[in-house]
Amino acid sequence: MDAADRPYDVLVAGGGNAALTAAITAAERGAKVLVAEAAPKAMRGGNSRHTRNLRTAHEAPTDVLTESYLVEEYLDDLIRVTGGKTNEHLARITIEESAQMPAWMHERGVRFQRALGGTLSLGRTNPFFLGGGKALMNAYYRTAERLGVDVIYDAEVTGLEIEDGHFTAARLRHRGFETRIEARAFIAAAGGFQANLDWMEEAWGPGARNFIIRGTPYAKGTVLRLLLDEGFEAVSEADQCHAIALDARGPKFDGGISTRLDAVPFSIVVNREAERFYDEGEDFWPKRYAIWGRLVAKQPDQIAYAIIDAKAEDLFLPPLYPPMRAETIEGLAEALGLDPAKLRATVDAYNAACMADGPFDTTIHDGRATSGLTPDKTNWARPINRPPFIGFPLRPGITFTYLGVKVTEDAAAVIGGKPASNIYAAGEIMAGNVLGQGYLAGIGMTIGSVFGRRAGQGAARHAGN
Ligand SMILES: Cc1cc2nc3c(=O)[nH]c(=O)nc-3n(C[C@H](O)[C@H](O)[C@H](O)COP(=O)(O)OP(=O)(O)OC[C@H]3O[C@@H](n4cnc5c(N)ncnc54)[C@H](O)[C@@H]3O)c2cc1C
Repeated sequence: MDAADRPYDVLVAGGGNAALTAAITAAERGAKVLVAEAAPKAMRGGNSRHTRNLRTAHEAPTDVLTESYLVEEYLDDLIRVTGGKTNEHLARITIEESAQMPAWMHERGVRFQRALGGTLSLGRTNPFFLGGGKALMNAYYRTAERLGVDVIYDAEVTGLEIEDGHFTAARLRHRGFETRIEARAFIAAAGGFQANLDWMEEAWGPGARNFIIRGTPYAKGTVLRLLLDEGFEAVSEADQCHAIALDARGPKFDGGISTRLDAVPFSIVVNREAERFYDEGEDFWPKRYAIWGRLVAKQPDQIAYAIIDAKAEDLFLPPLYPPMRAETIEGLAEALGLDPAKLRATVDAYNAACMADGPFDTTIHDGRATSGLTPDKTNWARPINRPPFIGFPLRPGITFTYLGVKVTEDAAAVIGGKPASNIYAAGEIMAGNVLGQGYLAGIGMTIGSVFGRRAGQGAARHAGN
């Protein structure tokens, strides 16, 4: 029988972590579930297939995490990075339930690797998926198939039939053909809108055309737009997102984690005018990398350049693309397309301001600051004077957007101040409830997992009534 003719209890829009978590949960409760994934099979799994870990609370060391990470500390961390822009009730639910997720995921085929040391310092807080997000998504698809979940690929939800907040059917474009699918409940797990450059331009202005989208090109926000147009309540803002500085030479979409550049704390970063614009040594890189996307986005032409010398080359992860190199600052400026005299003047001023003489130490805030610059570099400042001189072009790399639909603790989408009777949301499409701004590494997958389960439970419960 064709998928379009079968009666479904639950229709899930999306094919990433949130969607599959919801689909599996609903199917385990006896619901007949259809997953509609906009991407073709080879690209299924959205941004989730690029991920490596999720952040989970725990009271004692586990087989994959060290020490403890208590709910209150996790919540404090979240409130700090969001500047309080979080729904504390939903945040607490997310964090308390995060403790259950590794075991739940393991039972459904996901494997974790032992706690990692190294520069990311996440061994206490974030279990890492063995094989990364791709292996996680493959495990979930296998589990879903075993439970009898139907999956259609190349199937974009393009319309929703909703009356008085009640869902009856969705319209889909499936391999180029229009189709209509009825279900008793609908779960929106279709990600953010970061790959929709028209929408990004509405939020950011024409500069958005210069952004690089780190993940799936299928996150166009179609379902989010449909729900907001239908009158569902919004959370966060259209220009709030997770954005990092990426190698400008990376692919426009889907480059994943490999084009990230970690040179900033050991560099000076200049804009197109060869001028510095922010303190590169403000804090350790894991605490600052997520602000540099926005910083670069606000520069002319949304481009910047990290400049180092031979002393700094081995201090960060090797870049994917070879950097520009030259024996002189002027030569490097030419290779990067910058004004040689201006870059020379900026480097000279910086070098002259490197007055601190304590030991250079990348493992602490070494306090080696410049003096008298605007802005000063407050740690790890050393003169850039040993050739070859090395430069990397940087662009804003958008990970995911935060504008979403408001949900209740049961993951029900909210319309007219009330939960919809049979419409749920999970993952990036509602992450803004918890993440109004800022970011805490690994919480994207945690939000999708916790609310994916809750959406699956709610939808199955509704379908069973
Ligand atoms: C490079 C990279 C690395 C990351 N690393 C981490 C990490 O280590 N830890 C972490 O917590 N977070 C990480 N994130 C963020 C994380 O990916 C997201 O928070 C999480 O995957 C969101 O899951 P999701 O299911 O909501 O969205 P996605 O996984 O993006 O899934 C959305 C799905 O919806 C589908 N879709 C879109 N529109 C439609 C439509 N109209 N109809 C049907 N289907 C549709 C898409 O094809 C896609 O399958 C990373 C993101 C990127 C880009």
